[in-house]
This record gives sequence, structure tokens and C-alpha cells, in this order.
Amino acid sequence: MTNILVTGGAGYIGSHACKALKAAGYTPVTFDNLVTGWQDAVKFGPFERGELTDRARLDQVFAKYQPAAVMHFAALSQVGEAMAEPGRYWANNVIGSLTLIEAAVAAGCLDFVFSSTCATYGEHDNVVLDENTPQHPLNAYGASKRAIEDILHDFEAAHGLRSVIFRYFNVAGADPEGEVGEFHRPETHLVPLMLDAIDGKRAALTVFGTDYDTPDGTCIRDYVHVCDLVDAHVLGLNWLEADKGSRVFNLGTGSGFSVREVIDHSSSVTNRKVPFTIGPRRAGDCTKLVSGSVRAERELGWTPTRSTLKSMIADAWRWHQSAGYER
Ligand code: UDP
Repeated sequence: MTNILVTGGAGYIGSHACKALKAAGYTPVTFDNLVTGWQDAVKFGPFERGELTDRARLDQVFAKYQPAAVMHFAALSQVGEAMAEPGRYWANNVIGSLTLIEAAVAAGCLDFVFSSTCATYGEHDNVVLDENTPQHPLNAYGASKRAIEDILHDFEAAHGLRSVIFRYFNVAGADPEGEVGEFHRPETHLVPLMLDAIDGKRAALTVFGTDYDTPDGTCIRDYVHVCDLVDAHVLGLNWLEADKGSRVFNLGTGSGFSVREVIDHSSSVTNRKVPFTIGPRRAGDCTKLVSGSVRAERELGWTPTRSTLKSMIADAWRWHQSAGYER
């Protein structure tokens, strides 16, 4: 079996990727420090605990498993936190990734799948973002991810490292079989917070700003189901295996939904009211982030099958009503 090193494999997206990799016949080797991830989420292959900044530990893991490729999910990824603590974002995301990339090159592991983000684009007036849209990130999260994209580019020129870079839009939903799901402590993302409010686990959702230049005044995002997203990663791996070279792909659906629309859909899927209050804007948020995803569909053959709001919320709701993970 071919080993794939999955950093952040104990996290939300990484754990779903491990499941998809296993289903595709690979052995996912999770490398995670369990700061935001959960050991209970590591169900599909071996687990190695470690820090991305620990080069000696990474060298050990590369030597032990001889992975054919790296899928790099591990990162700090919250916009609000990035605004408050940019230093942590630069240190963890950029230095950690650089150490990982150097270790991969030293081990001769030259295929690299990287989770980047639509936050690298920043504010663009009402345009659908394609892979050639200029990147002007508004926060240290997006800026740190863009810097890692630059590192990958430089390492290709110097060392022959091939990368598939996925710029994610808003990931939601959960494994429909309920083996893994979204579970952050603390939680900051819209869909799980909304489900918490529906469930009475929190008093209310706060809508961050109703004065944006959008039809209902709330921010617009493009939501993609986590299972569709990780399917694209397996296709990205196949792309690298077929020696098609480095490529950037947006992963979204091309449809934007406002925060209010997500609230309305959640209410109708769960048949419950969503308690919410209106708050100020959250620093670092863009008005609208909607993907043009034709490249992934055309070149990778990616076909999202679960990325309707209804499926994402239904799958997230089912997962939400289960226990979550224990440390
Ligand atoms: N949002 C909100 N209240 C919350 C959390 C998020 O109104 O408690 C909004 C946020 O301003 C953004 C959208 O929901 O417009 C998605 O935010 P999330 O943090 O889920 O993902 P991000 O877009 O930051 O990656």
C-alpha cells in the first residue's frame, strides 16, 4: 500500500481526507500535534504525534513511512484569531510549512498537496474569483497561506517539488456515515455555531455585520461539502502521480449564500428556529467570496455531489447530534 503523509489528519478536513484516501487504496499516515485535532478522529491509518517545526521528528516520520506524497492540512485557520495574533499565524503556518517542505525534499518526497484558502484573494468587488484573480489577503491567515504557496513555487524551481494547491472556499458538512465530522473547541465557524444555537448549546448565534454591500447586508460565502472537497484531494494526488505538473485549483461551487440564507436553510432542514442576534462586523472578513471552480471540474474531473446547502446542513446536523470526540 502507498503511504501518504497527512499533516492535520486529526482535524476536520484532514480526517475526512484520511477516510477518502483509505477508500482509494492508500494508507494515510496522520501527523498532528493534537492542539486543535482529536486522536479519536484518527481512524484510517497510523498516527504520529509531532510538531511541524520539529525537523528531527519529521525526518524520523519520513524515514519510517517513506510516503509517496504529502497532504498538508495542519494550520491555524481562524480569521478572528489571525487578526488578534498574527505572529502565531506566521510562525505556525509559515515556519511549520517551510520545515515540512524542506523535510519532504530532503526525503525525496516530491509530490505535495496543499490546502490553501480563498482568504488569499481578499476583497474584490462582486467578482467570481478564479485562480488568476490577484491575491490581496486581508488577514494573517490568508497572508500566511499565500506565503506558503510562494514557498512551494520556489521549491519547485530549485528542487523539483510538484504541488497541487487547493484554495478552499467555505467547507461544511460531515461524513454521511458519521465516522468523522467537524468538532472544534472553541468553535468559530458559522454552520456548527448555528447548530449549537438551534440545539440550545449556546444562547444564540451572532451574525457578524448586516451592513455589507450585499442584497441582505450579510456576508456571502461559497459553501462546499467536506466530502466533495476531499474527493478533489484524491484527484489532485492522481494528477501528481500522472506527472501533470504543479497546478492551483479553487474548490467551491460557484454559488454564494449569505449568512441570513444559511440561517434560513438551517431552520428548514432541522425544522427548528435559529436563535440569533445581530453584532458588529468581524475584523478581517471579506464581503463576498465565491469561487469559479470550472478548472477543477474540467481538468481534475471533479464532480461535487453533496455540496447543496441542504445536504451540508443535514450531514452536519446528524454529526452534531452525535457525541463528538474525546481528548
Ligand atoms: N459568521 C457569523 N457569525 C459567526 C461566525 C461566522 O456571522 O459566529 C459569518 C462570518 O462573518 C462569515 C461567514 O459567517 O461571513 C462564514 O464564517 P466562518 O468563520 O464560518 O468561515 P470563514 O469565512 O471565516 O472561513
